[in-house]
This record gives sequence, structure tokens and C-alpha cells, in this order.
Amino acid sequence: MEADIDRILISDKELATRVKQMATEIAQAYAAPEGLVLVTILSGSIIFLADLIRQLPIKMKIGLITVSSYPGSSTESQGAKLLSDLNVDITGRDVLIIDDILDTGNTLRFVRAKLEEKNPRSVKTAVLLRKPSKAPKDVTADFVGFQIDDVFVIGYGLDFDDHYRNLPHIGVLKTEVYESAAS
Ligand code: 5GP
Ligand code: MG
Repeated sequence: MEADIDRILISDKELATRVKQMATEIAQAYAAPEGLVLVTILSGSIIFLADLIRQLPIKMKIGLITVSSYPGSSTESQGAKLLSDLNVDITGRDVLIIDDILDTGNTLRFVRAKLEEKNPRSVKTAVLLRKPSKAPKDVTADFVGFQIDDVFVIGYGLDFDDHYRNLPHIGVLKTEVYESAAS
């Protein structure tokens, strides 16, 4: 697994420090939450969510939604598609969308529109990573962990062809790995 990584971009220690800071920022923003629901976009956000909520000392529920934009071994966004809808009621609730990475913005734009249909009280977004080079101006994140360059990353929940999610750090996948999967 480690042999497929070109380099480590963000270490496990750096992730832990920044996620803890993000939890502090989020807790301050929701000093008096109205039934806060953290809506998590599966599957890439699971580790970020698990680490974040254990640092968040506020009452909340977790909602799950599954969206696919990088099916199988693709490394280019193919457009967001709903695979399973939200499993909790968010009517009148404060919603914080949790996603692993903001790239083209298609996923967050799509999920936000789906959630707005359900009449929440408010919708904000938290992403662990952001690639500023591609994200359009209409898609913003209220809480951002790290800005990164336009490289395909894996680990800490992020996958390539559903592998590497269990790496404890964020790494850059070797180009030959995805080139050989594409051929
Ligand atoms: P967007 O819809 O903003 O282009 O992409 C967001 C989704 O695409 C993320 O939730 C993530 O699942 C996937 N994604 C975008 N960039 C990367 C990347 O560098 N590595 C991995 N593993 N997934 C990515
Ligand atoms: Mg993904």
C-alpha cells in the first residue's frame, strides 16, 4: 500500500492538530445549535467525521448521504450522482455538511441543493481539503482544513478504486498506479 504512494502530503500528526482546531472553530460557530445535524458525504469523509466529532463538545446527530463522483478507478470528476438519500429529518435543523475534499465543487453544489429541498434552518459546509485551482466561486466551504495543489490524493478516508482509505496520512498516489488501472 505505502509503495503506491509518491509522497506524504499531510502527516497523521498534522491531520490530528488541524482537525482539533477545526472542531474548535465549528463549536464556536454553533454556540447555540438548533438541533445540529452533521450530514456526512460517504464514503470519503468517514475518518474525518470520526476524528472531528470526538473533538466537538456539542449536541448533534449524524446524517449519512452517499454520492458518487469518481466511480471506480477514475481520477477525474464524472458529475455527482445520488446513491442513497439522507437518513434523518433535517427540517428546521442547523445542518453542517461534512466532505473530504472540495475539488470541482459538483458534489457540494449537488448535495446542498438536495438538502435545501428539505427546508433546514441553515446549511454550512466543512471540508478537510480544498483544491483552490478548480473550485468555482459559487461553491464555498465555511470550514476548510488544508488547501492543497491539484494532485490526486488518497488516505485518511480518501480512496482510489475503493482502496487506500485506511492509510493514516494523506498521500499522493503514484501516477503509474492509476495509469496502469486505466489501461
Ligand atoms: P468535486 O465534486 O468537488 O469535484 O469532488 C468532490 C469529491 O470527489 C470528493 O468528495 C471526493 O470523493 C472526490 N475527490 C476529489 N478530488 C479527489 C482526490 O484528489 N482524491 C480522491 N481520492 N478523491 C477525490
Ligand atoms: Mg470519493
